[in-house]
Amino acid sequence: MLRALLQASLNLISASPCPVCGGGADPPEERGPCLSCRESFALPPGGLAGETPLPWYGLGPYDGAYRQLLLSLRKRPKEGVLRGLARALAPGVPDGIGGTILVSIPSWKRQGNPLPGLVVQQLIGQQRQGPPWGARALALLERSRPTLGQHHLDRQLRLNNQEGTFRLQPGHRAALPQLKRQPIWLVDDILTTGATALAAAAALEQAGLKVKGLLCLARTPYRGPEPGRDRSWAEARAAAASPRQSGPGAPAGRARRPGPP
Ligand SMILES: [Zn+2]
Repeated sequence: MLRALLQASLNLISASPCPVCGGGADPPEERGPCLSCRESFALPPGGLAGETPLPWYGLGPYDGAYRQLLLSLRKRPKEGVLRGLARALAPGVPDGIGGTILVSIPSWKRQGNPLPGLVVQQLIGQQRQGPPWGARALALLERSRPTLGQHHLDRQLRLNNQEGTFRLQPGHRAALPQLKRQPIWLVDDILTTGATALAAAAALEQAGLKVKGLLCLARTPYRGPEPGRDRSWAEARAAAASPRQSGPGAPAGRARRPGPP
């Protein structure tokens, strides 16, 4: 009851409805999914982040109703919903996306997954700053060979499957000296083992470019032997700012962890 009243008054003061369900929205300064969408999609209020196998920032676990939403968006993308998700994701990016290059991870097939590119568009579209301060989207990567479907592969097989699958788009070689000065965020819809992201990052790093990490809509929940490694955005930023520790609890960086036993 109280919740319904609160939501109703939020609707009154809010100029725009929730971009995901079309219903009640959060206060106007936060124009992502509404409270009840965040609840039903199990999006943690502090975001989701981690550093294996590369630093990543996401919105929530790829599970339940949120998984269903993303699967339906893959087939039929809805601009408003993606705009709402991008608005929710952008505040998680350490130091903001301003001045960075956003690179969506390309699909092998021409009719492949449209979501990474659309999320990049929405992240760019909501910035208030244009170039040279704002982020820009560049299609720096192309697939150099097809990969097997990964659905049934374990982590180590996925790493092997992805190795060398991306290369720098030849059209960007001339601009490399300029691009080397700008940090890059990779963008994908779902992070599972990170094998794809790692292969994409390797192709850019081989060309001397700086990859900060990966932005994603969802993270496949851990079912392996190392549960609970995900953190909130704030915790991940604090950890990135503090000096590197050593020992078993230290961040893994780009080191490849062995697959599950
Ligand atoms: Zn909603």
